[in-house]
Amino acid sequence: MRAQVDESLCIGCAMCVSMCDSVFSMNDEGISEAITADIADDVLADAEEARDCCPVDAIVIE
Ligand code: SF4
Repeated sequence: MRAQVDESLCIGCAMCVSMCDSVFSMNDEGISEAITADIADDVLADAEEARDCCPVDAIVIE
């Protein structure tokens, strides 16, 4: 499973980073980016919760 952030939707609230900083980080433009590697099993639930809490539904995990 991998996460992707739609940068055209992200409003830079940083919630996903605070919920799962091993998958999400803020880039220099203040937009969230996801790691390009597979999500580790032990943080998948946190990443999915961050996806569910994103206020603009910018995160896809598949
Ligand atoms: S929670 Fe959503 S809007 Fe907020 S920084 Fe993450 S991807 Fe962007």
